[in-house]
Amino acid sequence: MDLQLTPEDVAYRERVRAWLAANLPRQKLETLEERRAWHRKMYEAGYIGMGWPKAYGGQEARPMEQAIVGAEMARVNAPAPMNGLGIGIVGPTIIHHGTEEQKRQFIQKILTAEELWCQLYSEPNAGSDLASLRTRAEREGDEFVVNGQKVWTSGGYNADWGLLLARTDPAAPKHQGISCFLLDMRAPGVEVRPLKQISGSSEFCEVFFDNVRVPADNIVGEMNRGWQIAQTTLSYERGGNLLSRVTRLQVLFARLLDVARTLKRNGRPAIEDPIVRQRLGQIYSETEVLRYGALRLLSKLEKGQRPGPEASIAKLYYSELDKRAQELMQEILGPFGQLFEGAPPELSLAGDEDGEGGSWVYSFIWSRAGTIYAGSNEIQKNIIGERVLGLPKEVRADRQALQAR
Ligand SMILES: Cc1cc2nc3c(=O)[nH]c(=O)nc-3n(C[C@H](O)[C@H](O)[C@H](O)COP(=O)(O)OP(=O)(O)OC[C@H]3O[C@@H](n4cnc5c(N)ncnc54)[C@H](O)[C@@H]3O)c2cc1C
Repeated sequence: MDLQLTPEDVAYRERVRAWLAANLPRQKLETLEERRAWHRKMYEAGYIGMGWPKAYGGQEARPMEQAIVGAEMARVNAPAPMNGLGIGIVGPTIIHHGTEEQKRQFIQKILTAEELWCQLYSEPNAGSDLASLRTRAEREGDEFVVNGQKVWTSGGYNADWGLLLARTDPAAPKHQGISCFLLDMRAPGVEVRPLKQISGSSEFCEVFFDNVRVPADNIVGEMNRGWQIAQTTLSYERGGNLLSRVTRLQVLFARLLDVARTLKRNGRPAIEDPIVRQRLGQIYSETEVLRYGALRLLSKLEKGQRPGPEASIAKLYYSELDKRAQELMQEILGPFGQLFEGAPPELSLAGDEDGEGGSWVYSFIWSRAGTIYAGSNEIQKNIIGERVLGLPKEVRADRQALQAR
């Protein structure tokens, strides 16, 4: 396991730093067009779809290079590129399972964010148990007719296309009757309703399908093999993810230390309170544990190995630590931590750039989502229990067997 950057990695990091210093937007990006322009700049510099094959516009970059770009972006609080689902999930799915025609039509526009994508998987009664999904797609000539409902569709409100899982054989066992489609979000019969969230924003949507016609050419892979396609876990940009999350926590932590030096508790700076110091020390140590975990994972990816169940351990540990860290931040900040805007600059999260996405409270609320998306933490624990520890899958059946003895 390599815990140090090689001289080449350090040189690469310097180049990324220099590029960010020269190109980072000076002002907050307000409009979709401003965000697209920033995305375009990153794409032209080779920082989008870094792990993709060169034949499809990627860089075939090493996991460490991807991680370095993610970490450097987090360090300077750079705006995220657009089309996260398109680049993280849809593009790799089309590259692996799509037809030549689908690749020609979609890949380039995903990379440039000319077309934005959403993921149409979860339904009101199919989240963790995704294979229970009920949205139907029925074949009629050279089209499929889609009816049903999806929920928690991130970015559904401005998506041009959606990667859809729908049931194509209701008689088959539930994992075997599902197909995967590329669905035009502007097609007649698609209705997108934004959901108002506790944060005040509406990143999620409900999506309803009322006799939506999808050309049969837009099926991905074989009919009724959608479950296998959805399971394709592609490690293209996964390696970069964890280290940038560590950096994000480190940046937040550094800011918290500044605030704790300024804020007074019983007339003394909060940082002099022994309990505050102890709790800060705890979060610092746990972040270091996560950093070594991220390097361990990267080391494995660099050797061409798959992430394996470590990805579940990392996700579980990171999201729980993030929640603990955010709770501590709120405790130290007191009422100031509740302000979406208007906190004094010396106490705010992002100095004069305060506001949605840059406030302590938004950061706190967002941390609650981390234990749910990409498979809830209970599901991660099931995976770790079954695949890492080798515990029995069916505890009830096991108990009955024990009782019968
Ligand atoms: C920020 C965010 C973004 C998302 N974006 C998208 C998106 O773009 N597209 C999309 O399709 N979906 C999206 N989702 C939905 C997400 O995939 C689901 O919320 C998630 O899979 C959990 O499903 P659920 O909400 O239906 O909860 P449920 O599955 O109903 O779970 C409820 C509770 O029961 C627990 N539970 C369920 N089954 C088990 C089990 N077998 N063992 C132990 N505990 C269990 C869960 O852990 C949870 O605590 C997003 C969610 C979040 C939070």
